[in-house]
Amino acid sequence: MCGIFGYIGKKNPLKACLKGLELLEYRGYDSSGIAGIVAGKIESCKEIGKLSCLKEKLTLKALEVAIGHTRWATHGKVTNQNAHPQFDSKQSIALVHNGIIENFDEIRTRLEKNGIVFSSETDTEVITQLISSNYEGNLADAVHRSLPFLKGHFAIALIHKDHPDLIIAAARECPLSIGTDDKCTESIVSSDPNAFLGKAFNITFLRNDEIAKIQKGKIEVFDSNFKLILKKTERLESASKAPTKEGFKHFMLKEIFEQPTTIQKAFLGRIEEQQVRFEELKHELKNVKSVLFIGCGTSAHAGAIGSLFLEDLAHIPAHYEISSEARFRVIPPETLVVAMSQSGETADTLSAIREIRAKGIKVLGICNVKNSTLTREADHCIFLKAGPEMSVCSTKAFTSQITVLYLLAQYLAQNKNLDELKQIPAHVQKVLDQAPLIQKIAQKYCHYSNFFFMGRRYMYPTCMEAALKLKEISYVNANGYPAGEIKHGPIALIDTNFPVIAFCSNKQTEDKILSNLQELKARGAPILALAPEHLTSVTKIADDVIWLPQSSDLLSPFASTIAGQLLAYYIALSRGCDIDQPRNLAKSVTVE
Ligand code: GLU
Repeated sequence: MCGIFGYIGKKNPLKACLKGLELLEYRGYDSSGIAGIVAGKIESCKEIGKLSCLKEKLTLKALEVAIGHTRWATHGKVTNQNAHPQFDSKQSIALVHNGIIENFDEIRTRLEKNGIVFSSETDTEVITQLISSNYEGNLADAVHRSLPFLKGHFAIALIHKDHPDLIIAAARECPLSIGTDDKCTESIVSSDPNAFLGKAFNITFLRNDEIAKIQKGKIEVFDSNFKLILKKTERLESASKAPTKEGFKHFMLKEIFEQPTTIQKAFLGRIEEQQVRFEELKHELKNVKSVLFIGCGTSAHAGAIGSLFLEDLAHIPAHYEISSEARFRVIPPETLVVAMSQSGETADTLSAIREIRAKGIKVLGICNVKNSTLTREADHCIFLKAGPEMSVCSTKAFTSQITVLYLLAQYLAQNKNLDELKQIPAHVQKVLDQAPLIQKIAQKYCHYSNFFFMGRRYMYPTCMEAALKLKEISYVNANGYPAGEIKHGPIALIDTNFPVIAFCSNKQTEDKILSNLQELKARGAPILALAPEHLTSVTKIADDVIWLPQSSDLLSPFASTIAGQLLAYYIALSRGCDIDQPRNLAKSVTVE
């Protein structure tokens, strides 16, 4: 999941690297580090914690070339020793890595038998020592001879003390972009091409064990047989400024408040003469007999709502599956698989679509980031157009996802009734206007450490998503549960210290959820209801109510989601949590 950045060129490599790492910190913030070459020696600095901790400690100056890393630890604790770059025992190679080496233990044991001494617990050091043991003067050749021994997924960038004019990069199923500027004065390697900020670069992506020799303004790429190949480059005009909080205390709050606009962006231009059109679809989606949505975390919850849209609007059987489980499912022919990932880099989702496409099944990607791996590997890709999402906890991408999924269902149904969707931004605004009230309610509930979030039908995935928000940023136990199921076991947990957050906006199941709330109230649970304005009877049961604008059941997830996001945000704020960068998480999960 880590971020890799490397620079060689006319600018100060250290500064360029730090700037790149700032834009990659969303990929992990357990530790960070930079290494470079000064007068034939590797110099480095590593520090646990966020990039700001590294910056405070940094004493490096004039590096001839630099590679840097932000880590999300998979193998080995969060320590300075395990931070990247990793080195070989001769201190001649420094290497940064994204991914997992599945057979690291076996290779390590073999190298140790040959007398190589390891100094970290990481799988990354194994790659470094292996390359060093194969090095005979040509670094790219040493990498080429090492890669076949590695099992797993990786993107790596490395430097050698004897080659101050060179970065070697290689990748297998982990994103790695490389590029040069128009004047051929600079070369960059990065996990995310969007970190090439402020200048147009001609970029290409490494894959399938390709190896790149990166020099100032010049890049050569070799295939897995070490044959020089010509790669097609794309011109990437990157934004010249990183997004800012624009006066909000956190990116998460800013992004919550952006939703009236981002939802609109997701449907504007896609409705023409009361019909849905997606300009991204290369040809019409025909003969779709069933739909399988796949995704992880928030995207999986969007998929769960999408499957309800598909069945209710287009009468096409639809299911959703967590990406890491999807590859084991039997997928009938003429199923459309819809793969969702905000970043387009989620490793579990990418691995699943590779297997699914290999079976001849078409994949439609839904994604927020252009040039991401999902956009390149799916048969078609629809964009969310939500703009960069900086908060690790996803908010606006989710509501854009469900907007696009609603359109997709209408498109497959060939329906012409799209007026209600246009009212949604105003509904969302109505909930945002209640932020001060939601903050007060959050202060009342912020001391509890266990919650049930419950709902029926459309409110079931909606409450799961709201519970996930609370877990992610407040570190409290919150379970999203189908309301009808609580009496089949979990009700045993309920007492006066176990609040229930009831999502009541699904009209079709209103009476039943009110009965479920009575059952929980009878057992002493504090109850906070998120209810549509007409459901006044809920006040007799619930301790607190957040009133939501009324809509059809299909569109009810929007207002309820916003209320859930604000509730999670204000509970986390009251608990003093690190909202934009919660512990143990990273924005883009690029390991399986
Ligand atoms: N496996 C490496 C480590 O733990 C890299 C992890 C990653 O890419 O997230 O340091």
